[in-house]
Amino acid sequence: MADLGLDADGVTFPPAMTERQVASAALVRRDADAAGRRYERHESRRRDQARERRGAASEPVRPWVPGPLPPVRPVPPATNAGPVCEVCHRPLADALVPHGRHFLC
Ligand SMILES: [Zn+2]
Repeated sequence: MADLGLDADGVTFPPAMTERQVASAALVRRDADAAGRRYERHESRRRDQARERRGAASEPVRPWVPGPLPPVRPVPPATNAGPVCEVCHRPLADALVPHGRHFLC
């Protein structure tokens, strides 16, 4: 406080104090600019993501189209004269005889 002067314009600051204030203000300005740029990048990404979501939502839903079926394996000839599935003609286990077919046929 002893370095402060007083003249007709009011308080005068010593040159070293003024330089420290200028340097401090430059640091604050630099940090504020960096924060502003980070915010802009964040907002830009957020807008892009929102635009992508809207684009995906407005895209028409294509109807499901079945793919080609796997090739049908040749049915082996029955090796015995036992019961066979009425659909695929493969041998049928005794437990399935009352049903007449495999569960998945
Ligand atoms: Zn079958």
